[in-house]
Amino acid sequence: MQEPVRAAPPATLARNQVVPVFTSSIVADVGIAHAGRCRFVTPPPANLARSFPQPRPDLGLREGYHSAQVAVEVRLNTNESPYPPPREWLDALLAEAGDIAYNRYPDRSAWALRAELAKLHNVRPEQVFAANGSNEVLQSICLAYGGAGRKAAMFEPTYALHSHIAHLTGTALVQGQRRADFGLDLGAALGLIEKEVPSIVFLCSPNNPTGLAEDAATVSAVVASSSGLTVVDEAYGQFASWSSLELVREDVPLVVVRTYSKTWSMAALRLGYLIGPAEVVKVLERVALPYHLDTLKQAAGRLALRFTSEMEQRVANLIAERERVVAELSKMPAQVWPSQANFVLWRPLRRTGGEVWQGLVQQSVLVRDTSSWPGLEGCLRTTVGTRAENDRFLSAVAEMLA
Ligand code: PMP
Repeated sequence: MQEPVRAAPPATLARNQVVPVFTSSIVADVGIAHAGRCRFVTPPPANLARSFPQPRPDLGLREGYHSAQVAVEVRLNTNESPYPPPREWLDALLAEAGDIAYNRYPDRSAWALRAELAKLHNVRPEQVFAANGSNEVLQSICLAYGGAGRKAAMFEPTYALHSHIAHLTGTALVQGQRRADFGLDLGAALGLIEKEVPSIVFLCSPNNPTGLAEDAATVSAVVASSSGLTVVDEAYGQFASWSSLELVREDVPLVVVRTYSKTWSMAALRLGYLIGPAEVVKVLERVALPYHLDTLKQAAGRLALRFTSEMEQRVANLIAERERVVAELSKMPAQVWPSQANFVLWRPLRRTGGEVWQGLVQQSVLVRDTSSWPGLEGCLRTTVGTRAENDRFLSAVAEMLA
């Protein structure tokens, strides 16, 4: 039998050091196909199965933010655009898709996309940070400006991901309450900011799920009272009559977050961005993963901006439909809040929110059941759809509340 060929061990061995032994017969014995002649002799543990490590205890394993996904004909539950993007946009994207060097990483700085967004908003590209949906923008903000030992303030009820993402990043929550009419209680908000000194203050304008927008005086007062970063989430900004973008300046710690998911009809592509001081953008770029925006997505976002007037037309249609839905719902036994977004918050009277939600599902109409959310007892939120979809929704509600 052939003698195993052994390599000389290192002169000194550290504790637990695994020594490679070069032996052709061991390789042959255990039947391992191995290109070289090197094999580690430490035997594998007999059984690797054991209990799993626990996730961070401070996570509290909260439920994520999910809307029920039910197969229905009319989907009015997640505030998407009911209209697809223009065919010409898709043609332009498909043409560019053929030229992409797929073997190469994307432009890490997403410069061309940021340059076009900068033009749209009349700022410099250095003032634009883009990410995979505005949720990732919010996460980047919390990673950079929140975290252990820091606080983020928000005013409930508001977009659930503000508190959820802050919580996931280990940021302590400071949750103020809105007034009964869902407006921001500015005096109370400023008092809370002064007392708690949060590193981040989230505003949401128009606010999801209530639909109300903040005015310039309110946003300015919040920025003035806070030593941290004020974040105005304008996912529905184009539906409102005023935007905090007007207040963005290089020397003001304010950022405005926008998304391609709603007005741009591109929810499937996951793209969002913020406009803010270049100093903040630089920080956010350091916490984003390298190459987080793929080449196709960057092209999709850049090309969409060629179709701004089509986007504005979609917004105008939805605003007209929103006003019709509010007017029609208001004739029914329901409390309806005015909205500056593409959804309407309402509370059926006589029947519970849960019952009405269920009844609508039975008629193949899906809305968001917010009836058990704190502060929103009995309420439902309906996304504004096409005229036909809104008609389906309105007649189903009329039938249920008759
Ligand atoms: N902000 C608000 C207020 C929202 O309602 C949403 C979507 N539900 C988002 C941000 C996230 O949008 P996206 O990640 O699709 O850009």
